[in-house]
Amino acid sequence: MGIGQDRQPRHPGCRGVVNRARLAYGCRAAKASSSASRHSESCRRVERAYGAATRTGHGIAPHKDEPAGQVPGGGVPRLEFITPDRGGLPPLARYATLQIGSERRVVGYTEASRGCKHLCRHCPIVPVYNGRFRVVPIAVVVSDIRAQLAAGARHITFGDPDFFNGIGHAKAIAETFGREFPGVSYDVTMKIEHLVRHRDALPLLRDTGCALVTSAVESIDDDVLARLQKGHTRSDFEHAVALCRDAGLALAPTFVAFTPWTTIDGYCELLRTIARLDLIEHVSPIQLAIRLLVTQGSRLLELEEIHTITTAFDPRFNSTPASPIH
Ligand code: SF4
Repeated sequence: MGIGQDRQPRHPGCRGVVNRARLAYGCRAAKASSSASRHSESCRRVERAYGAATRTGHGIAPHKDEPAGQVPGGGVPRLEFITPDRGGLPPLARYATLQIGSERRVVGYTEASRGCKHLCRHCPIVPVYNGRFRVVPIAVVVSDIRAQLAAGARHITFGDPDFFNGIGHAKAIAETFGREFPGVSYDVTMKIEHLVRHRDALPLLRDTGCALVTSAVESIDDDVLARLQKGHTRSDFEHAVALCRDAGLALAPTFVAFTPWTTIDGYCELLRTIARLDLIEHVSPIQLAIRLLVTQGSRLLELEEIHTITTAFDPRFNSTPASPIH
């Protein structure tokens, strides 16, 4: 069975990823989005949360006790989540599709939470949320999904930076999804650390329609992972692969293949590891070409070796260009 997915920009104002992936694993689900693009998209959504989105009704509004734009202590404002109005967007069928077996499903998108409680050095979410996350009420999530199913979706992507940040909320969302939307599939993103720690919850995901779990592995080099403060090791990654396989969940790892610490030997070892773990068809080709992004306020700048090779922030690319590395 072949699986493919085309991803187009989810919002007319956003630069989306047009990608194609072929995966094979158990139920053979597919997804072609990198964690980097997902994170960048999340950051753009956060930016909209401060301004345009509150005016145009994209699913968030200032909390009733908090005037728009006011951010006590300089942190992330408390937002009162409302059901998104996607009235002005192109039809769902023009966005991503997911192929399961011979069926190609129109994909919808929602979020059960925003932000992240972790502080990984390379993550563009950290300068915005600084270790905080907000959960979206279950009723809002259900109403959002229902609207997209009515518009033709048969699969829902949860765009939470990490679906298991609030494990109680995540389990309640999964249980509700399985009960309310039988026959509809979904996918989530979560970190390796959470896959291992909350392994008992993996069967719940499988049983409630989860077709795919994306996880930002980033590297298999423990020194690089330590620099990124990723919270897992290569061994944890391999453990998570086994846990997902045992649970019957398709795992799609993502990587930051090129960092200032990447070597030819290390890159070849990454390719060998992907093959050895039987993950070749789980890894979107773009994952083997992604370079480290240094955003404004990135915690990577805490590292002397990054600080010394970067130049001033360039708003045209929303990043801090690095000098060529030889
Ligand atoms: S787990 Fe780390 S990389 Fe993933 S969203 Fe949270 S801070 Fe970012």
